[in-house]
Amino acid sequence: MIINRELCDICGSCVAVCPVDAISVSEFCVTINQDKCIECGNCQQICPARAISGAKK
Ligand code: SF4
Ligand code: SF4
Repeated sequence: MIINRELCDICGSCVAVCPVDAISVSEFCVTINQDKCIECGNCQQICPARAISGAKK
């Protein structure tokens, strides 16, 4: 999964919906741990800024 940092407003919504805790948020950026991510697509669907892409489904 890919986060477009120019679109992301660091709202934190994606962190809560990740079933494997692959997303971490700091004051300045949001990061997806690609090794943990199972590409469920939850974060892509929840993101209000449409900043996440890359889900296969
Ligand atoms: S696609 Fe699913 S597993 Fe991967 S970062 Fe998003 S919510 Fe987490
Ligand atoms: S839900 Fe979208 S805008 Fe909010 S922190 Fe996650 S990537 Fe950024």
